[in-house]
Amino acid sequence: MDTSSPRSNFIRDIIDADLESGRHTRVATRFPPEPNGYLHIGHAKSICLNFGIARDYGGTCNLRFDDTNPEKESEEFERAIADDVRWLGFSWDDRYYHASDYFTQLHDYAVRLIRDGKAYVDSLSAEDIRQYRGTLTEPGRDSPYRARSVEENLELFARMRAGEFADGAHVLRAKIDMASPNINLRDPTLYRIRRTEHHRTGAAWHIYPMYDYTHCISDALEHITHSLCTLEFEDHRPLYDWVLDQLPDLAHPQQIEFARLEVNYSITSKRKLLALVQENLVSGWDDPRLPTLKGLRRRGYPPAALRDFCERVGITKKQTTIDVGVLENCVREELDRSAPRVMAVLDPLKLVIENYPEGQVEDMPAQNHPKDESFGTRTVPFSRELFIEREDFMEDPPKKFFRLGPGREVRLRYGYLVTCTGFERNANGEVVTVRCTYDPATRGGNAPDGRQVKGTIHWVSAAHAVDAEVRLYDRLFDIEDPGSADDFRAHLNPTSMTVIADAKLEPSLAHAAPEARFQFERLGYFCADRLDHQPGRPVFNRTVSLKESWAKGNDRKR
Ligand code: ATP
Ligand code: MG
Repeated sequence: MDTSSPRSNFIRDIIDADLESGRHTRVATRFPPEPNGYLHIGHAKSICLNFGIARDYGGTCNLRFDDTNPEKESEEFERAIADDVRWLGFSWDDRYYHASDYFTQLHDYAVRLIRDGKAYVDSLSAEDIRQYRGTLTEPGRDSPYRARSVEENLELFARMRAGEFADGAHVLRAKIDMASPNINLRDPTLYRIRRTEHHRTGAAWHIYPMYDYTHCISDALEHITHSLCTLEFEDHRPLYDWVLDQLPDLAHPQQIEFARLEVNYSITSKRKLLALVQENLVSGWDDPRLPTLKGLRRRGYPPAALRDFCERVGITKKQTTIDVGVLENCVREELDRSAPRVMAVLDPLKLVIENYPEGQVEDMPAQNHPKDESFGTRTVPFSRELFIEREDFMEDPPKKFFRLGPGREVRLRYGYLVTCTGFERNANGEVVTVRCTYDPATRGGNAPDGRQVKGTIHWVSAAHAVDAEVRLYDRLFDIEDPGSADDFRAHLNPTSMTVIADAKLEPSLAHAAPEARFQFERLGYFCADRLDHQPGRPVFNRTVSLKESWAKGNDRKR
């Protein structure tokens, strides 16, 4: 877990005041996803906030599935969500709940509201209900069914429950105020008929409670103290409070709203993410270019970096969009700390060391982490034929090019100093081999005579190299705000994925575990793909480059 102390924010201030005043003696939060899709970076903010507060105040945070829409929800989503929360580093212990666990209580409370004259069965059509609701500037009108007797309401509600009516024939509504300036209080629907099986309760129910009615009662039943949600629920808070005010024997948690997390160049709308997946514009929910937690995980983002990012972004009431570069920097910082260094060549060019004995192999000691000795050392085999990066050689280099070119000397990292003696082309005129000589006195990369070379390049021994597929990822969209474009599909970045089929890795990577993360020296941070990587057939994903390559204003620097 992160060791830095959490930044204070207005929600923590409210909690501090509640504990100080004795209004509460403990803190209980919950994270309430609807199992109708996969979690994304925005949800990470809510998870870190809710579980983070529980952790820091010695309280509890429940994982509660808000599963009141049987048509859209599934077991698959539920499992994936629980898996993601755990992966992010949080635990709900045994507090794993569902709104559907409370269907009986929710029903019984609805009966009580009917008895108390606080709810009624409406038989207007959905369209009429909309008409009667009024607008932002005009008050609504009472439904002709609003005056039904308690007995009639009880009977109709019982028959709705028994499955006697078709979907939409009736709804149960709260009896509040059709003239309220807050449309959410204009007799909101509490229950609707859905003759659909639910992934957990099966065919037990023909009526399902609405979110606003369910959420506050679920919070109360779980003795949540602070119910933290995003700003779009601000206008629903009076309804949250109204329902609980009618049920005074229940606890009354406090709803507090905060701004959603939005990240530029990304889409976090569940509907649009679903479209990307269903239209095969990406490879699935875990496509490494998506901001889903499954995607970020597959891309190699460490959970600690996401927690750090959420902490840095902070909690406010002001809606802002965060630059994705901030997220990428959190990833770089975490990986700089935690990823061992290795050598890999993505665009191989053969380098032959003419004066190096044929058949000789030296195991060169290499540091696993130049800034942290605890990572230890390994050896990398050095031999007469190596691969170097194609872009590290130039036939006719400019003065400032400190890599290899005819007559120039460079350091092979952890190897020797070598001087380029020539190169060969194939029939197409492409350079296929570079030739050099090495200075045997420079083992490890330093010249005993103190002569300096400006460039150090990475390499792998050709005979020992492990062939690998390497996938380079870039931003999925080429505009900052794809979410508000007329059609986000028109703004997909055509080069968001490049597959290199024949990269060359140092042999230590042959046994990398799926999801293991490394810095490929000079190239970036990479992780072994959690699904496709296999011992005999390594597949690595580029998590992030070493430096920010997108300048402000969407210009590629390289
Ligand atoms: P839906 O449109 O299906 O309601 P949702 O993104 O709100 O989508 P939920 O499963 O309801 O999905 O979200 C679970 C929790 O995560 C809610 O408390 C919600 O407020 C919070 N959340 C969702 N998106 C964000 C976001 N971008 N930033 C912060 N919190 C978010
Ligand atoms: Mg929601």
